[in-house]
Amino acid sequence: MSYIQLSKNKENIGIKPKINIAYENNEIFFKKYNNDFIIDDDIKSDILCPDLLNIYFNKNTSYNDLSNILKNGIFSMYSDNEIIESMYLNFLLEFNGNDYEKYINYIDDYMVLTINLPYKHLVKQLYLVSSSYKKLCFKVSINNDIINAEQVSLIFNYMLLDEYMKHEYRSRQFEYLFQQIITYKLYNFNSKKIKRILFMKGLCRGFYIYGNINNINNISLYFEDDIKINYNKLMIKLCCKKISNKLIYISLNNRGDIEYNFEAFDGGINFASLKYSKLIIDFELEENEIMFCPILANIMQYNNDQFNIKYNYGDLLCSINILEDPQWNLIYNKLIDNNKNTCPIMNETINLNDEYATCENCNNNFSGNAIHDWLAITQNKECPICRSEWKLKNYILYKNI
Ligand SMILES: [Zn+2]
Repeated sequence: MSYIQLSKNKENIGIKPKINIAYENNEIFFKKYNNDFIIDDDIKSDILCPDLLNIYFNKNTSYNDLSNILKNGIFSMYSDNEIIESMYLNFLLEFNGNDYEKYINYIDDYMVLTINLPYKHLVKQLYLVSSSYKKLCFKVSINNDIINAEQVSLIFNYMLLDEYMKHEYRSRQFEYLFQQIITYKLYNFNSKKIKRILFMKGLCRGFYIYGNINNINNISLYFEDDIKINYNKLMIKLCCKKISNKLIYISLNNRGDIEYNFEAFDGGINFASLKYSKLIIDFELEENEIMFCPILANIMQYNNDQFNIKYNYGDLLCSINILEDPQWNLIYNKLIDNNKNTCPIMNETINLNDEYATCENCNNNFSGNAIHDWLAITQNKECPICRSEWKLKNYILYKNI
């Protein structure tokens, strides 16, 4: 749901207030608590998005010290007490594919590092969070014994709405999928291997790996006991998108793009449907530390000023859960159980690469087209076999691969 669409709707009903919207930038300083810098005031704005993060250091800070700080510094964002996003500062810098020296300015007695936050692209709809009554909180944690930041500020991009727009906005109901990057720090000392069981549960379209990429000999990813990705040095070069010298992106949906669009989740992997997954990275040398940063989908629910984020953890299936008019626009890969590969509607076999859907209640699998047509023509949206309600979470197309 974008502002433009709202605007369009309004034109349709013939009301054209003179001023709908104004933009404003505002710098808000964090309060310091030990090594944490926190903004937990109620930031009152109609709509806002964190845009730039400024970290102020003593002007004599060396680049070496700076890089040590950035290595462990974390920027995170909370809605009430739920964490929305948490990223390492140096990952944020590499995300833009630039050296951090580019982001340094000297202002008064400070050396100021300015980081472009990717939220505008990644969680654009976060704008909406502040239009509800949920409290947003931002935190920058910098744990460094030698040198610390003197102050930290966030520059927000505000939108101010007029009364009509505010009302229009707040009376709406919708759900929206947004993207989230989680960063995990993985390391293995005295070993040339990093081997981790992954505990991610959401729908994932791909992941970043940040670290000394040149030192990586092989990356493999297992879904349960099946190997999904096995890239040697050459394959890493050919199949991974290089963002910077230290950052690569590996697609799980074979699209390879890192564009910030929601279709990018088509064909992504739903980790909730896997018992476990495993990441193994082989290095040339010992003592390695990397960051593993999957891009996950979350659903933001907005209903009459009530706002929720539905995480895809646990057994929650991820669907683009559109109110009233469910759509089958999310497909992800899951091999069908061979005993249930006949569609009861068509009495046809669901072959490899066919799309299918599953009834949560009776576990029957239906060919995508057949169940789509069935639901379109039946009054009560129910399973053709067990007659249980065809719930929103059943509106998921799998690809039988
Ligand atoms: Zn059923």
